[in-house]
Amino acid sequence: MNGHPPLLRTVISVEHDVFAVRQHGREVAAAIGLEGQDQIRVATALSEVGRQLLARLGPVTVTFEAVTDPHDALTVSASAPAPADPDTLTRLLAEIDGARRLMETWRIEDTPDRVTVVMRRRLPAAALALTAARVAALRSDLKRLRPGRPVEEFVLQNQQLLAALQEAEAHRDQLLRLNEELEETNRGVLALYNELSAELEETNRGVVALYAELDDRSAKLRDASEAKTRFLANVSHEMRAPVTAILGLVRLITDPGSDPLTDEQRTQLTLIGGSAQDMLNRVNELLDLAKAESGRLVPVPAEVDLAAVFGALRGTMRSLVARPEVELVVEEPVGLPTLVTDEVMLTQVLRNLLTNGIKFTLSGEVRLAARYAGGDTLDLVVTDTGIGIAADEQQRVFEEFYQVRGDAQQGVIGTGLGLPYARSLVTLLGGELTLESTEGEGSTFTVTLPLVIP
Ligand code: ADP
Repeated sequence: MNGHPPLLRTVISVEHDVFAVRQHGREVAAAIGLEGQDQIRVATALSEVGRQLLARLGPVTVTFEAVTDPHDALTVSASAPAPADPDTLTRLLAEIDGARRLMETWRIEDTPDRVTVVMRRRLPAAALALTAARVAALRSDLKRLRPGRPVEEFVLQNQQLLAALQEAEAHRDQLLRLNEELEETNRGVLALYNELSAELEETNRGVVALYAELDDRSAKLRDASEAKTRFLANVSHEMRAPVTAILGLVRLITDPGSDPLTDEQRTQLTLIGGSAQDMLNRVNELLDLAKAESGRLVPVPAEVDLAAVFGALRGTMRSLVARPEVELVVEEPVGLPTLVTDEVMLTQVLRNLLTNGIKFTLSGEVRLAARYAGGDTLDLVVTDTGIGIAADEQQRVFEEFYQVRGDAQQGVIGTGLGLPYARSLVTLLGGELTLESTEGEGSTFTVTLPLVIP
């Protein structure tokens, strides 16, 4: 493994030779290029191994060699006669085990004649390469080594130990300081982390609670709205039967084939019939609204003949206009694109808006017109020159049962359900119902419908 002859060979015959060999170990290590600490390691390991071998086995031959395989290194072998019994060797190996840590590799060669401890320490990268020429130079240089006096080596050894101790203490102090700083920083980071975690947890709890409350509320709202719709549907359904019965009875009594009535009786029965019819209309409105809100009303789209729808409205609504000062104008719908929607629902909406216009207009006109401004929507507009709706009421008139209470509204019969129902229907048709109005001047309700139900 190595072609170089040994650098130095020396013998430990008596105890004080151990000091000399220690000194040699350090000097050879220095010469070959090992650094300060490593020099002391080599010298210490060698002197320890030498001392034990000498004490238990006899004279020790120490050989220093420069090796290059697999790395440049210094090898030190300490060889002594083999012991008579194996126990001695076992005990010896236990004694020198502490020195093992000082060297990189450590091998025991155990032959019948001799026991050899082979120790190796690698050279640092910065050391000069162990070429044949350099090894030859080292060998001749080391020839000058003469064993020094044991006391000198002892003093030197003490100094080296002291220096090593000081260096170790300096390292330890530095480590302690660093450790403290690190601990301090860690404590700070931990405190910050705890604070942030607590804050986050708090926020999270708040958000979760908020969401729970929101969910709760919307569930309650949904329940309340469903209950209301169910209630409206039930009540109106229950009321329809008796009211229809009253109407039927009035018709039966006033029939020309029935028993004759006095004029007074006939007038009163006509009033009863009128009231019952009013009531039936209201109940039907309620039922319609309940149906629209329950989602059971589904539009049936078809191409709508607007001219026909307008014509029919013109006919039926005219009878409602009771004042000569009010004129109902239904414009002729011309030049419009085709409209595909639910004709029955649309007619219902326009009828409601026109009824309101006629109810709340004392003089002037109520007008129905269709307006197309391009695009994919069509406007159906109902305008009147009536009492108008104050700005702060304009949102509320679309709420169920809401009616404006003022002098102008005195004596006008209604339920407050017409506009919410109209808006529900327009929404079902995919459109929008909007209102513009000035109190005392009039109102404009605009139904904006998609040309085709989406
Ligand atoms: P109703 O007409 O049965 O009272 P609506 O929901 O149709 O119920 O209308 C709600 C309220 O809005 C009416 O009571 C009235 O005060 C107001 N209103 C509706 N249409 C008009 C209109 N064209 N002009 C003035 N006020 C109106």
